[in-house]
Amino acid sequence: MSNELGLKVKPVTGISPEDETRVAAWINTEDYKLKNFARQALVVNPAHACQPLGAELCAHGFAETLPLVHGSQGCASYYRSTLNRHFREPAPAVSSAMSEDGAVFGGQNNLHEALENAIALYKPKMIAVFTSCMPEIIGDDVSAFIKNARQKNCVPPGFLVAHANTPSFTGSHVHGYDSMLLAILQTLTEGKAIEGRCTGKLNFLAGFDANTGNYREYKRIFHEFGIPVTFLADISEVFDSPNDGTYRIYPGGTPLDDAADSINGKATLTVAPYATSKTLVWIKEQYAGEHASMPMPLGIARTDALLLKLSELFDKPVPASLKAERGRAVDAITDAHQYMHGKRFAVYGDSDPLLGFVAFLLEMGASPVHVLCSKGSKKLERELQALLDGSPYGKAGKIYMNRDLWHLRSLLMTEPVDAIIGDTHGKFAARDAKIPLFRFGFPIFDRVNLHRRPIIGYQGVINMTTEICNKFIDIKDETCEDRFFEMMR
Ligand code: SF4
Repeated sequence: MSNELGLKVKPVTGISPEDETRVAAWINTEDYKLKNFARQALVVNPAHACQPLGAELCAHGFAETLPLVHGSQGCASYYRSTLNRHFREPAPAVSSAMSEDGAVFGGQNNLHEALENAIALYKPKMIAVFTSCMPEIIGDDVSAFIKNARQKNCVPPGFLVAHANTPSFTGSHVHGYDSMLLAILQTLTEGKAIEGRCTGKLNFLAGFDANTGNYREYKRIFHEFGIPVTFLADISEVFDSPNDGTYRIYPGGTPLDDAADSINGKATLTVAPYATSKTLVWIKEQYAGEHASMPMPLGIARTDALLLKLSELFDKPVPASLKAERGRAVDAITDAHQYMHGKRFAVYGDSDPLLGFVAFLLEMGASPVHVLCSKGSKKLERELQALLDGSPYGKAGKIYMNRDLWHLRSLLMTEPVDAIIGDTHGKFAARDAKIPLFRFGFPIFDRVNLHRRPIIGYQGVINMTTEICNKFIDIKDETCEDRFFEMMR
């Protein structure tokens, strides 16, 4: 065997080209799908990341806060590089850099040194500590380590250190986000509840949402309503700051004083019931004011529900500007619906957006045929099923809970669909199935600026509809016979 330079090379395997062709065809069959779905102990191309990545995103959402990974440097690089690649922005975080001796003797010394150095070098107002697999497996007591660090003066008196355990062998980035958010709010609000005080503000939780355009869109909606807000874990400026030639290590985030005072808020609202579930349970016990949980506002009906809830919580009518925007969104989908109606989709993602994508597709008369979540719960499955059952377009839909993107590939090859909604990890399956992938999830590594265009709210409906329908029209233009190549579509 020789390579393209004519040099003799030793084959890495003994697999013949004929066998390769045979297997390449076999993995597209029903027979292979059955074997693929029978596998138990192996995950291939999961549609989720590990807990600390979510914890890091959450920590970045607070002003002058430095995320600190207690664990190995390689893990820390993975979260940082994933965030870098998605946002194309720096994600400044530090690590306690545990290695072999830390794994044997525990990571206390590493953590103490990391805290001391990080405070001296990067001058944060708060450090958010979370864990990678290694300290979780060996049972590091991080809470005690932080107490000891204060006694040793590695951490100055009164300096804010929030800490969450984020074991990666369970849950996903979404659970890590929730744990870190809870820990940060517990740390910041300690002793800040004041009987009778009301900030008059809405505390808003978006959950694990890596679309900075969504954050700006939420804020615009609150502005239209005239509702003052404390946006908890606000990453919009952190990961979408202006390029003015000056590097800032902490370019944005929720001001810590505002977050601390959020315990005295008028109302607290989450649009991520799954990504903030633990935090919300605690908020209900500790926070003043009303507490509400709404679905992520993807699609018309879910946006309507959010606006009505805001109207109810703050006793304000839905502003005329937003009503007009709704009318424009309805017009946009009416103009476009024929390009999506009846189209078959595969869709995967985190629980909150997944429910929203399915709801949006059903609104458009499209059929979510394969609905997959690689870290989902029975509750999510029931909610998805209820959505599918509630629409004639949901009849063909089937839910695949705790399955990965290699399972999805088998589904695409044996029960074809027209398109996929998901994140960049689905591009391999999309290529094999020769269908488009609409990148509405996280992470998006292979397209630019998609994290800047909102997909929530009425504007999000217009954006998603435009992206999807124009792609289908592109495909028609690229593949139709000459006699059907028309100016009008
Ligand atoms: S799964 Fe564990 S080892 Fe892998 S990157 Fe996440 S924390 Fe590190």
